Amino acid sequence: MTIFSKIINREIPAKIAYEDDRCLAFHDVNPQAPVHVLLIPKKFIRSMAELTSNDQDLMGHMMVKASEIAKSLGLAENGYRIVVNTNRDGGQSVFHLHIHILGGRGLGWPPG
Ligand code: AMP
Repeated sequence: MTIFSKIINREIPAKIAYEDDRCLAFHDVNPQAPVHVLLIPKKFIRSMAELTSNDQDLMGHMMVKASEIAKSLGLAENGYRIVVNTNRDGGQSVFHLHIHILGGRGLGWPPG
């Protein structure tokens, strides 16, 4: 059980950007860009490293939703970045898979 399960269950508040039966998007509490939204599956998946072929439809759904959410937040024309930090070297801090949607400024590359 992570803090993101509590957001799904409405046990703690979040600024919701999108929700359907399979996923939930909300604004990051510590934004790293003018727009910083997290998109999570409602199903508990610990990280990208735990994905299996059973998750193919869900992850495909979430990628399409990430594109739609970015567009709805006005990011599509100038661009944005999606990031999935994974385990220790990826810098993951919350162990419920999440897609970061970052935009609203030029983003540096390569990442630190
Ligand atoms: P990661 O480091 O990739 O695991 O990202 C976890 C993200 O969750 C960070 O960007 C945090 O700022 C964000 N975060 C942690 N707790 C909350 C919360 N209660 N509401 C919204 N975002 C959160």
